[in-house]
Amino acid sequence: MERQRTTALPAEAELARQMEYIREIRQENDRYFAETGKHKKFYSLAMGCQMNAHDSEKLEGMLDEMGYERTQEETEADFIIYNTCCVRENAELKVYGKLGWLKHYKKQNPNAVVALCGCMMQQDTVLETIRQKYRHVDLVFGTFNLYKLPELMKTREESGCTVFDIWQENQEVVEDLPSIRHFPYKASVNIMFGCNNFCSYCVVPYVRGRERSRTPEDILAEVRKLAADGVKEVMLLGQNVNSYGKNLENPVSFAELLRMVNEVEGIERIRFMTSHPKDMSDELILAMKECDKVCKNLHLPFQSGSTEILKKMNRHYTKEGYLELVRKVREAMPEITLSTDIIVGFPGETEEDFQETLDVIRKARYCTAFTFIYSKRTGTPAAKMENQVPEDVVKDRFDRMLQVLNPIVHEVTEEQVGKVLPVLVEEVSKHDENILTGRTEQNTLVHFSGSKDLIGQIVPVKIIENKTFYVIGERI
Ligand code: SAH
Ligand code: SF4
Repeated sequence: MERQRTTALPAEAELARQMEYIREIRQENDRYFAETGKHKKFYSLAMGCQMNAHDSEKLEGMLDEMGYERTQEETEADFIIYNTCCVRENAELKVYGKLGWLKHYKKQNPNAVVALCGCMMQQDTVLETIRQKYRHVDLVFGTFNLYKLPELMKTREESGCTVFDIWQENQEVVEDLPSIRHFPYKASVNIMFGCNNFCSYCVVPYVRGRERSRTPEDILAEVRKLAADGVKEVMLLGQNVNSYGKNLENPVSFAELLRMVNEVEGIERIRFMTSHPKDMSDELILAMKECDKVCKNLHLPFQSGSTEILKKMNRHYTKEGYLELVRKVREAMPEITLSTDIIVGFPGETEEDFQETLDVIRKARYCTAFTFIYSKRTGTPAAKMENQVPEDVVKDRFDRMLQVLNPIVHEVTEEQVGKVLPVLVEEVSKHDENILTGRTEQNTLVHFSGSKDLIGQIVPVKIIENKTFYVIGERI
């Protein structure tokens, strides 16, 4: 059975419909529990970016409302859902690896249901491969209709056939879906969906569609609700938050939105990602500086230090423009830390271009960086460019880049040592139950001894030792 639909019902009607399916499934699951004494279990895996992680919180919230219990063990799940990523080839290979394993699992557990969703499913070649090679998959949906999970599960149950439901667009944002937050005290909030930038290497605009912003009213209502629920830190999410609000009926800038969120009582910290350097305005720098709750930490991907490569990447800024932006940001907020994304081995990248990337790393001085080897994505302009860089050359550059980057990360972290900083305590360390972990405003990960009653509080911690990618602290 296959369905293609490109329009949605009005958002409220969709929510009501899905809640009705949730109730039906819950009744079935309650009956199952009454008969067997066992809850049905779900296993959920989000791959890729924060956007996917947040989407999965909604999928998990719906499954929880349906009466499923979460399990961390794939091998005991009745319902398995992978929220996939296709930004780099590795992410796709991981999904195919999992699907191979699931073939055996389904043979032993024929009643288990396997669902795939997210970015990878928006690509026709992937759908074709699933149809031909992975017929044990039960439901497939994409990025535009994740709120339809309950209905699709019901359709699958009633039809007994694989259900594909991929949309090419959807302007409606369904608000108020149930959601399970990974942390009780910090939460992500989507402020916009999609991307209009078409960086020449990137598949996101093809799989997440055009930019659409939520209204400030909806965003603020969600943030207020989170605050009432005890959330202290919000992360405002969008592929390019700096172009937030441009297409709203009553346009609002991201800087204005930040100021509004800053007023919400109960929220103590605000973060956001991702900022595209081409759209980072003076107005936003001023709002960051003036809003006391906005954390002085900025993720500002530069991708490449070579102006020539940046042009081929369609990034719309130069090396000098980027460094000038860094200078302005630091001048306004001397205490700020910066993080970034870097791609090595974009087609045509020469050793000189690569040296420019190293130069930006040295000058901008990041507290952390997400570093990627260029991955060729079918359908993007870069995939057709000449002079793809040989694998061994890219690997060598990648290693040399880390040799420059890591000592800088160490030095930047060292600047925190000796200071007493407010830390939002997040959880007990997975490796030692006497150790708590949390983050400073600058996003430094801190490990320190303390009682788990502190989880969710912002407490002063003295930073005593630098471990490069985290620090050891002492409660004072
Ligand atoms: N919207 C965000 C990030 C989107 S994807 C931004 O513009 O910053 C996250 C990161 O993945 C990108 O910043 C980029 O560094 C990396 N990336 C995207 N496509 C890639 C590709 N084809 N190969 C390697 N890295 C890629
Ligand atoms: Fe991809 Fe560029 Fe959009 Fe980021 S801004 S999602 S890198 S196209």
